[in-house]
Amino acid sequence: MGECDQSLHTSPVPFSQRPIIILGAGIIGCATARQLLLNGFRVVVVAEFLPGDQNIFYASAWAGATWHAAGGISPEDRYLQAVTHRHLFRMAQESPESGVCLVDAREYLEEAPSENSSIWGKTVVSNFRELEPGEYPPNFDCGWSYQTLVTDPTRHMPYLRKQITALGGQFIRKRVESLQELYAMFPESNVFINASGLGSKTLTDVQDDKCFPERGQNVFYRTDKCRQMYFRNGKEYTYIIPRPLSEGVVLGGVKQPNNLSPEVDMDVARDEIARAHRLAPEIVPADPPEESLSYIIGIRPSRQGGFRLDSEQLGQRTILSAYGFGGGGYAFSYGIAEALLTMLEKCERENVIL
Ligand SMILES: Cc1cc2nc3c(=O)[nH]c(=O)nc-3n(C[C@H](O)[C@H](O)[C@H](O)COP(=O)(O)OP(=O)(O)OC[C@H]3O[C@@H](n4cnc5c(N)ncnc54)[C@H](O)[C@@H]3O)c2cc1C
Repeated sequence: MGECDQSLHTSPVPFSQRPIIILGAGIIGCATARQLLLNGFRVVVVAEFLPGDQNIFYASAWAGATWHAAGGISPEDRYLQAVTHRHLFRMAQESPESGVCLVDAREYLEEAPSENSSIWGKTVVSNFRELEPGEYPPNFDCGWSYQTLVTDPTRHMPYLRKQITALGGQFIRKRVESLQELYAMFPESNVFINASGLGSKTLTDVQDDKCFPERGQNVFYRTDKCRQMYFRNGKEYTYIIPRPLSEGVVLGGVKQPNNLSPEVDMDVARDEIARAHRLAPEIVPADPPEESLSYIIGIRPSRQGGFRLDSEQLGQRTILSAYGFGGGGYAFSYGIAEALLTMLEKCERENVIL
C-alpha cells in the first residue's frame, strides 16, 4: 500500500465530499472546474484574478480568441485541440450566452503547407475548402476557407463563473506564494491542480524557469462587418478575429517576449491596422475613425518547449500541472479539462481501493 492509499483511507473527510483544489481562474482553471463539476466532483478555485477582472497578467481576459489549428504539434496535442473544438461547437449551437460563435474564416498561406503544418485542422473545422487561384491575393501560395469558432472572453469568462457557481463550485480570491500554502489551506484535500499560468514562474515551490511572459497588444475595431475571420499563415503574424456579439473585430498581432508594458504602443497599433487593411481592405479601412478604436493588452503565459500537462505524486498528494499555454489557451482549454479529468480519475482508481 502506498502513502497515498493510506492518507486517503485515514482522511477525516469521506471520499465523496473531498474537494479538488484548482489554483488559477483563467480559461484553463475555469474550463477544468466546470468539467469536474459536471462529473460530480466538488471543486474550489483559488486565484488572485477571477472572471470579470481586467489585469494585464490575467491573460484569459484579453484573448482574441479564435480556435486555429496549431502547426508543429504532436498528434496528442492535436487531439486536445480537436476535443476543445467539439465543446466550443456545442456551446456555439446551444448556449449563445457563452460568447462562442461559429464564423467564416479565410486563411492565406505564404508557402504550401507541410505535413506538420496547421493543415490537420481541416479534419476538425466545418466546410473546409481549398481556394481556387484568384480567390486569394496573388502574393500568396494558396488559401483555405472554412468555418471556425471564436470565443468572446468578455462574455465567456463571466459565463463560466456563473456556470461554476451554479454547479456548486466555489471561488476564493487569494494570491498564494507557494503550492504549500494551498495545501495548508485545504488539509482535507488530496488532489491539487496547478493552472496558474505565468504564476508557475514565481510560486516558490514550482519556479518553472521555462515560463516567460509574452506581451500581446491588439486593436479592437468597432464595425458591423464582424462575422468573417482572416488569418495570414506564414512570415507575418496577422489576424482579424471577429467578435459578432461585441460588434467588432480584433486586429493583431504581436508577440513581445519579456515585455511587461501596460502602455499602448501606438506604433504597434498603427502597424496592426495597416497589416489588417492589407489582408482584408473590405473590412478594415486604411484609416479607421479614432472613436471606433480601442486597445487590448495582455501578457501571454508562454513556456519554452510548450505547455506542461502532467501528474505528480508528492507524498499523500497528487499534483496535476496544466500551464504554459502561451497564445493557445482557448484553443486547448476544454481538451485540457477533459485530459485532467481522465488523469484525476486514474489517480483515484489507483489510490482509493485499499
Ligand atoms: C492579445 C492576446 C490574444 C490571444 N489570442 C488567443 C487566441 O486567439 N486563441 C487562443 O487560444 N488563445 C489566445 N490567447 C492566449 C490565451 O489568452 C492564454 O493562453 C490563456 O488565457 C491562458 O489561460 P490560463 O488559464 O493558463 O492563464 P491566465 O488566464 O493568465 O490565468 C492564470 C490564473 O492563475 C492565477 N494565479 C497565478 N498565480 C497565482 C498565485 N500565485 N496565487 C493565486 N492565483 C494565481 C491568476 O490570478 C489567474 O486566475 C491570447 C492572449 C493574448 C494576450
